[in-house]
Amino acid sequence: MATTLITGGTVVSATGRAEADVLIDGEKIVAVLTPGSELLGTDLAASVDTVIDATGKYVIPGGIDAHTHMQLPFGGTFASDTFETGTRAAAWGGTTTIIDFAVQTYGERVLDGLAKWHELAAGNCAIDYAFHQIVGGVDKDSLAVLPTLIDEGITSFKMFMAYPGVFYSDDAQILKAMQVAADTGLLPMMHAENGPVIDVLAEQLVEAGKTTPYFHGIARAWQAEEEATHRAIMLANLTGAPLYVVHVSAKQAVAQLATARDAGQNVFGETCPQYLYLSLEDQLGASSEQWGDFEGAKWVCSTPLRSREEGHQDHMWQALRTNDLQMVSTDHCPFCMKGQKDLGIGDFRKIPNGIGSVEHRLDLMYQGVVTGELTLERWVELTSTTPARMFGLYGKKGVIQPGADGDIVVYDPNGHTSIGVGKTHHMNMDHSAWEGFEIDGHVDTVISRGRVIVDDSGYVGNKGDGQFVKRGLTQYLI
Ligand SMILES: [Zn+2]
Ligand SMILES: [Zn+2]
Repeated sequence: MATTLITGGTVVSATGRAEADVLIDGEKIVAVLTPGSELLGTDLAASVDTVIDATGKYVIPGGIDAHTHMQLPFGGTFASDTFETGTRAAAWGGTTTIIDFAVQTYGERVLDGLAKWHELAAGNCAIDYAFHQIVGGVDKDSLAVLPTLIDEGITSFKMFMAYPGVFYSDDAQILKAMQVAADTGLLPMMHAENGPVIDVLAEQLVEAGKTTPYFHGIARAWQAEEEATHRAIMLANLTGAPLYVVHVSAKQAVAQLATARDAGQNVFGETCPQYLYLSLEDQLGASSEQWGDFEGAKWVCSTPLRSREEGHQDHMWQALRTNDLQMVSTDHCPFCMKGQKDLGIGDFRKIPNGIGSVEHRLDLMYQGVVTGELTLERWVELTSTTPARMFGLYGKKGVIQPGADGDIVVYDPNGHTSIGVGKTHHMNMDHSAWEGFEIDGHVDTVISRGRVIVDDSGYVGNKGDGQFVKRGLTQYLI
């Protein structure tokens, strides 16, 4: 088996940093050594197959993006990244594991949906991958099958309080599924927005001629997110199940989570880079020469971008510091403007929901370190260590220690990354939601289970390098 030594760098974990050399043997990290240690010989560098010089750079555990939607069917089309293109883009950006959502829609069997997802991903991924299960139809069959997912390495499932007629679960269905979670240790994940209310507001807006992307953000009011978040917390409380709320964007929803956590409840929340940087006014309300006031469609996602005037973005950064929110995922769900987003010209309800970010999460969050929003350690915790703990991967992933997978990123704080189409853009989309963002750092080298897959020359891995990873139960409970 090939051996690799990463030498001269600063190893950063969720709890600290130290000058150290990292030795990988085959697919696993086998030693973290004090520089100059002669324990393994006087010239270790000469005895390994590959030496990576990380002098002046950070050596961090590979990113784990716990919320992606490759090839997701939505609104009559499919998310434009396949497992092949999406995981390759992730690799470029220093993410070495994704957790994607296998889909069961109403009337379909859960295990059929899961089998389909295995088929889509197998042999196509550049990096390791795991699955959550979307349960779009909570019924007798799916409730009976849920506990068996644990043996399949799928220990979390997602329900939707939005999208009536597509993925929606009512309170009775949510209660029953949470009871199963409480009994088994499965972690329920929630898209917490009051869908029936949003659909009425959206219909009224369109009838009033307010059809541009901006009104997507108006229809999906923060009250609908706060209310649903509260309801989900109460249902979890009633059943004793833990709860993980996805893509939190409203500061009022954060307050609901914080109150429940302060009372000792096992509730958790993620946010996404778009809710930290982008806004209703600047993006959903944007116009361009090419698209006019349809420009904002690039940023139509749910939950929506929120008003900067109301201060949600600053509050999300704060919640990441105070651990009222525990981690950052992307909700990567890319659609092209031409042929996909443009389905919604004249009616924002028909714009496929989602933006693409899987490639840029580590960089965008590192910029938060540069600007003083986060510490270096918190950056690692939010993007790798907590995702691993939350979803039962810790020890194998999310940490640089002997026995862990050799998933490592060498990050250069003196490098620079310009994001945009034609610059840094490997996602299968005809635009970037992050066009023009400049990052004061750079992903230099990406190692996946001991193999370099990105280096100075670019992507050097192969389709199919990534393996399916079975997850254990959550390791994050209070
Ligand atoms: Zn969602
Ligand atoms: Zn999602």
